[in-house]
Amino acid sequence: MAFVTYSYSAPVSQSLFERAAAVTPGGVNSPVRAFRGVGGTPRFMVSGTGPYLTDADGREYVDLVCSWGPMILGHAHPEVTAAAQQALARGTSFGTPGEDEVALAEEIVRRIDPVEQVRLVSSGTEATMSAIRLARGFTGRSKVVKFAGCYHGHVDALLASAGSGVATLGLPDTPGVTGAQAGDTIVLPYNDLDAVREAFAAHPREIACVITEAAPGNMGIVPPRPASEGEPGFNQGLKELCEADGALFISDEVMTGFRASPQGWYGVEGVVPDLMTFGKVMGGGFPAAAFGGRRDVMEYLAPAGPVYQAGTLSGNPVATAAGLAQLRALAADDFAAHAKVDAASRQLQQMVSEALNKEGVAHALQTAGTMFSVFFGDFGTAGVQDYEAARRQETFRFTAFFHSMLSQGVYLPPSGFEIWFVSATHDERALGKIAEALPAAARAAAEAVPA
Ligand SMILES: *Cc1c(COP(=O)(O)O)cnc(C)c1O
Repeated sequence: MAFVTYSYSAPVSQSLFERAAAVTPGGVNSPVRAFRGVGGTPRFMVSGTGPYLTDADGREYVDLVCSWGPMILGHAHPEVTAAAQQALARGTSFGTPGEDEVALAEEIVRRIDPVEQVRLVSSGTEATMSAIRLARGFTGRSKVVKFAGCYHGHVDALLASAGSGVATLGLPDTPGVTGAQAGDTIVLPYNDLDAVREAFAAHPREIACVITEAAPGNMGIVPPRPASEGEPGFNQGLKELCEADGALFISDEVMTGFRASPQGWYGVEGVVPDLMTFGKVMGGGFPAAAFGGRRDVMEYLAPAGPVYQAGTLSGNPVATAAGLAQLRALAADDFAAHAKVDAASRQLQQMVSEALNKEGVAHALQTAGTMFSVFFGDFGTAGVQDYEAARRQETFRFTAFFHSMLSQGVYLPPSGFEIWFVSATHDERALGKIAEALPAAARAAAEAVPA
């Protein structure tokens, strides 16, 4: 990876990064944070409030990462913070059931129609891993279908052709995942129902489940194809093919859940999966995630059923209190916060497109509910429909754009394969700061040349 030096500096972050690199692989605890996709020094953040982050050098940024999704109400939201503080004061972990866990589960079940029962875990990875184990246990089958470019956390069996950091780093697959672990995974191109039909035809009654991002956001936004003449929409088609064969349909809403709409992507499209996974927003910035769905399937989980799944910190009182407070604050005043996210997202989309068009920068701006991302390059009228197309984006233009924005105090995801996260606190002032930065960044993208 070419290392690019930029003319602005962050000396404190740089020295922290050097310390970190001595004791932590690559200096980070999650790969995409290391800026490998864009070069330069990752910013070490020390505080956040609303839509702003402050780094260790004392510079303020408008944050368009929002912790990769969780901070949909902005940083240090007063109600979420207060709920966490009150829970903290009561003790941080009991290893017993507690009322907030019940309340959070009830909130999810009430909010998301297809979820009749839910199990709380601590990360999205755990949620998808457990959902797959449950699907295999319930069906007594081994094979799993996933789609290229969809990221479901770093579950061994699901790391084949994954998006997110795997896409950013251009890793085809990862060492450490054995043939046995990945051997039952069938990777298919996204948005291609014929490929799914062929897989079911080739492996009748062997496929335990099809797992997909409800609306993929980990290769940038690639929305599921809607219904067209004679062909159901992609998700509906998956559901029907699964039903016909007795496989389970798992919709991964870790990113889209409580973000794409108040009911996540389910609320946009209404396709009913057998199992769903959640994380990010539902944890309020703490490690809380969940999987849930059909009661008869969920009751296959221990201790009700035979499929084992557990966690020392599952349903942690601080995390569940914060998550619950966040979901309640999101729902307050008839989901006013969601309306704000939607409005901010739309305004930002328009600003970005205008700035890029003005400089003649070809791009595809794609949306899924309130979520959006920008692919640099010419993708014609069809846009980006799968991972193969997503990988054709002009990452060198994104890199130039990213660093221009960063130098002007706007913190974008350090990869062209990620969505731009907005919060309900991205108000006129925050959007105004982005608007000021956009013209120079668009010019930098226009002038960029491949490395
Ligand atoms: C982030 C993400 C995950 C993994 O969640 P972690 O909490 O990072 O383990 C899984 N699926 C999707 C769709 C995600 O966006």
